[in-house]
Amino acid sequence: MSSRYTTTIGLEIHAELNTQSKMWCGCKNDPYEEKPNANVCEVCMAHPGTLPVPNKEAIRKVIQVGLALGSKIADFTEFDRKNYFYPDIPKGYQISQYLYPIVSGGAINGIAITRVHLEEDTASSSHDNEGYTLVNYNRAGVPLMELVTEPVIHSAEEAGAFARELQRILRYVGASEANMEMGQMRVEANISVSKDKTFGTKCEVKNLNSFKSVEDAIRFEVERHIALIEEGGKVVQETRGWDEVKQETFSQRKKENAHDYRYFPDPDLPKMYLHEVFDIEAMRKEIPELASSRAKRLTVDYALKSDIVEIIVNDRGTAEYFDTLVSGKDSAYANLVANYLVVDVFGLLKKEGKALVAENFPSHTAFSTLLAMISANELSSRGAKDLLPFMLADKSLDVKKTAEKKGLIQTNDTEALKKIVTDVIAESAKQVADYKSGKESMFMYFVGQCMKKSKGAGNPQLFQELLKDALA
Ligand code: ADP
Ligand code: MG
Ligand code: ZN
Repeated sequence: MSSRYTTTIGLEIHAELNTQSKMWCGCKNDPYEEKPNANVCEVCMAHPGTLPVPNKEAIRKVIQVGLALGSKIADFTEFDRKNYFYPDIPKGYQISQYLYPIVSGGAINGIAITRVHLEEDTASSSHDNEGYTLVNYNRAGVPLMELVTEPVIHSAEEAGAFARELQRILRYVGASEANMEMGQMRVEANISVSKDKTFGTKCEVKNLNSFKSVEDAIRFEVERHIALIEEGGKVVQETRGWDEVKQETFSQRKKENAHDYRYFPDPDLPKMYLHEVFDIEAMRKEIPELASSRAKRLTVDYALKSDIVEIIVNDRGTAEYFDTLVSGKDSAYANLVANYLVVDVFGLLKKEGKALVAENFPSHTAFSTLLAMISANELSSRGAKDLLPFMLADKSLDVKKTAEKKGLIQTNDTEALKKIVTDVIAESAKQVADYKSGKESMFMYFVGQCMKKSKGAGNPQLFQELLKDALA
């Protein structure tokens, strides 16, 4: 039944920009401030007679986002007033952009972006206070960008992937922390279904505070629309909320139209010719290589597994850390680094409750030394794992000296190892008999015994060779 329908989705995504100060005043932009109304002033509280001054850093960040998305950066741009009356918007209008957004065009994963504009966030209201609504103005006037896509997305998964990729890009260019749970990135999904080439009536779903909710809400809405149409009913254009507990959408309000907002250019703010204020071409050159392109490069150059690549490129600092370590090295080396980083270093950091960020990784020098010692057979993988905690605790650790001090240097001294092999065989008469009567799995027991006798210092490869000779 549902296969006869085409699903159409367009996303509107807001992200709080991580500037030092708010959009129109000098108040601190701090999403972590817990004291209500701590970061407020006459401007963001909309006292009469106050005037806004645009935050240049916020405009710069939106341009950076546009450059990363391959969009067109406007020459001319201006701010507009979007009029509506609600306690969370103290001026009685929100300063936004209407006809001349800073950014237009561009794409993520082939999905066309309509525009990215700059506006201000609202205050946050809390309603569950015995009949009162409390309003906290810390967030009022925080720079907020809004990205709008064309209605060209056709599945929940595609929409989720778009939002995840946008989050990575925002973090890569340093425009926003884009944490969905914190409300730093907020996704609204417009959804419609149709049996022919014309668009069906859309509903907009809000309050989606995780990527999973985005996908779940879209799937729910698609099914709801199809069921409605199949019963002979009609979809009503409206704004809906997402109930995380019930896993369903619910009607919030019938959608207002653009003319209800009576947009007009804000006379208190200057019109801007961006190319006169910013060196856009210089900014373009400063855009870092993005995660998706890094992932492709690392896969091609080093044949790394895709799940490991995704973990490495997900965070820009980690990706750059990794790139520095493996640049000019071969695939075997890169795979070794990737494994020690993603499995062992990450494992240790998680155990210590530390963030998985480059500042907490071992120094490049220490890591390179460790790998050189492994390649030279001076260190077993066991020894390497034992050294890592010391490397994390002390960034300037002398890895080689520590390995010596802790007795972790691997012995490649064939004569010494031969002696151990002889001893182990002499002490394991029964196991040797078993082995010789065909129980080949016994072999690893002997290797284990040898490693134990050498206190982990013997080279396991060498032990294996020597054991094979001795047992032949
Ligand atoms: P509105 O004026 O109602 O806000 P817009 O044209 O500004 O509508 O589009 C808002 C969002 O809705 C955009 O992301 C757009 O891609 C999406 N959209 C528009 N029409 C549809 C549709 N029929 N089905 C799904 N999404 C749509
Ligand atoms: Mg809209
Ligand atoms: Zn202020």
